[in-house]
Amino acid sequence: MKTSNLTPKAKKRWDKIPVGVQTKILENVWCTNCMHGIRIEVESGKMIADGDLLLEGRCNECGAKVVRLIEPEDGLENQI
Ligand SMILES: [Zn+2]
Repeated sequence: MKTSNLTPKAKKRWDKIPVGVQTKILENVWCTNCMHGIRIEVESGKMIADGDLLLEGRCNECGAKVVRLIEPEDGLENQI
């Protein structure tokens, strides 16, 4: 995905996640409109409280706004 819209801190966190795990994260986002897992088209990303990374974007199927929260331990031990 394009990381140009991530804040510098968010990009640093994202880059710590192995590419294979990044793909899994992006392809397993729940869309409340479609009611199933979809792929997120990321529009922005930022660090929020407690070291969580919040990715914001759109559902690739219906275009609804979706978010994916990545907790501090996610993606660091080859599992989500
Ligand atoms: Zn959707």
